[in-house]
Amino acid sequence: MQNLSFLFLYFKSLHMCFIKSVFFVVTFFYCLQSIAQQPLPVPTSIKATYDKGSRSPDGKPGKNYWQNTADYDLKINFDPATRLLTGSEDITYTNNSPDSLRSVNFKLYPNLYLKGSVKSMSIKAEDETNGVKISSFSINNNKIDSTQIEIDGTNMIVKGFPIASKQTAHFSLSWSYTLNKTSHIRTGEIDPGADFVAYFFPRIAVYDDIDGWNTYPYNGREEFYNDFCHFKAAITLPPNQVVWATGNLLNAQEVFSEKIYQRLQQAERDDAIVTIVDSTEMLNATNHTKATNTWQFEATDVTDFVFACSDHYMWHSTSLAVDKSTGRRTRVDAVFNPKHRDYFDVIHDARKTVEAMSYDFPKWPYPYPHETVFDGLDQMEYPMMVNDNPLADHAESVELTDHEIFHTMFPFYMGINETKYAWMDEGWATIGEWIISPIIDSTLVDEYGVAAVEKTAGNETDLPIITLSTEINKAYFTDSYPKPAMGYLFVKDMLGDEIFYKGLHYYIQQWHGKHPMPLDFFNCMNTGSGKNLNWFWKKWFYDSGIPDLSISKVSETGNQKQIIIESIGGKPVPVDITITFADGSTRRIHQTIAVWEKGNKTTAVKFTDPKKIKTVELGSVHVPDSNKKNNVWEAKK
Ligand SMILES: [Zn+2]
Repeated sequence: MQNLSFLFLYFKSLHMCFIKSVFFVVTFFYCLQSIAQQPLPVPTSIKATYDKGSRSPDGKPGKNYWQNTADYDLKINFDPATRLLTGSEDITYTNNSPDSLRSVNFKLYPNLYLKGSVKSMSIKAEDETNGVKISSFSINNNKIDSTQIEIDGTNMIVKGFPIASKQTAHFSLSWSYTLNKTSHIRTGEIDPGADFVAYFFPRIAVYDDIDGWNTYPYNGREEFYNDFCHFKAAITLPPNQVVWATGNLLNAQEVFSEKIYQRLQQAERDDAIVTIVDSTEMLNATNHTKATNTWQFEATDVTDFVFACSDHYMWHSTSLAVDKSTGRRTRVDAVFNPKHRDYFDVIHDARKTVEAMSYDFPKWPYPYPHETVFDGLDQMEYPMMVNDNPLADHAESVELTDHEIFHTMFPFYMGINETKYAWMDEGWATIGEWIISPIIDSTLVDEYGVAAVEKTAGNETDLPIITLSTEINKAYFTDSYPKPAMGYLFVKDMLGDEIFYKGLHYYIQQWHGKHPMPLDFFNCMNTGSGKNLNWFWKKWFYDSGIPDLSISKVSETGNQKQIIIESIGGKPVPVDITITFADGSTRRIHQTIAVWEKGNKTTAVKFTDPKKIKTVELGSVHVPDSNKKNNVWEAKK
């Protein structure tokens, strides 16, 4: 409505000014053009980044783009019997921002389990803790006293020292807490002797060019936003435990028995699937000459570091060339309780996912040295690690495996702020599973989330995808997963793969290892593909509306057929028509979302066929339609 009233006023003013007709025609078409390619709304905080040059309206990082980083040196002791986790860490933090930081915000993610902290997930009373206990804390070798520390749930603000622009500060901390036994929210004990340990160390929050410090509390629902950092971790456990983690294991020969070490070397070289540890070998897998083993890991340019450990899991492993031009390989692991028979297929599905991601979708060489799928109690991604519960249903298991591994690209390689924009990573993992599941098993049709969109579209809680994830409540699932996935899929369909990948790869190239925001994505897709897609971004990601197409008219004049499709709900979706003729034969016609670009309410599908039409039906797997009653037309008998 706003657009049309603008057009009306424009005509009126031209008429009153008696402008020559040529000019009128030219400006009229210019005006139509500018409506089709209207700029997307720019929040004031993003406008400010354009003014400062840290971001840019063409989607590229600005000439003054910056982000902060840190080196973490973690020394961890973990006792699976008591679940007590103690750590000391040295952090060298670099303030690349143009600002002098008067305080530093830390994230204490384990304080999700702190008694009384804000939570959106239920935590059993026996899993509630007194929070992370910090026993020593210094900056640049000066002790920080308790008056300088303010802890509020998962946020810890440390005051009393400035870090000037372009300066580095050194923090040393010692801390401890007890890992949760149940109430498994992405981390905790899996069973006695197997643990997934994530979000476990105090770390510095993101300070960015939009919000300054990220102060959103971690409440269990919204996910994470972390800077790209360098991690070194030395993890000490009893000698019967094997440890898997983000990054490269630096001392494999020291912690494994010779036989296991040799198998690991073989898995990293060969395409074949290797059983590194079978169900009977776990007790002899590690070095038992000392009271504890210390596992040394290192990871560069990743947003987080996690580890998992077990004294009774099996380990399947394989590797593949993920970049044919360099021969670079990625090792893929499935690590699981041998009682979970469904996990025996996971290594195949995980390997095929890494292969499909590198060569089919998003056709980008898998960026990390390994991907370890760990049999846990959640369905969650971490850099180079996945914590997936076993699933007896084959389709569900494949879909879960490829979904979580797909997150490697979004949010990890791309540094997404998942806390505010879950659609920028979950939407991709959802289209990832839609596309990759049938590559793994051609009998699968993955329609994760489509029915939920059809059911909730247009109701009071259905909010635009662009709404911050922290504000969407009931629409969290549909806005984060299927709705954005549909948006990406429809654009891919409209542009065709060649142009779509020009846009997507341009976005990946410009922003990997950085922190892209929604407009950086939209503008990169426009710039990289060479197509201004703002009309669709606006309609699909910003506007309200319902996906509802109907067949409003079918006409036949001899061989000439015409079917009029109406967009009743206003959301631009592809048109898929199945025509059944009187002789029982069928014909399918597909039109991309391009047919709705001009803001039209109807589109005509024309074709020539001598056969008489019996029925016409609208719909396809990933195209939602909230009202299916108007999707079928039948010829009068
Ligand atoms: Zn996901």
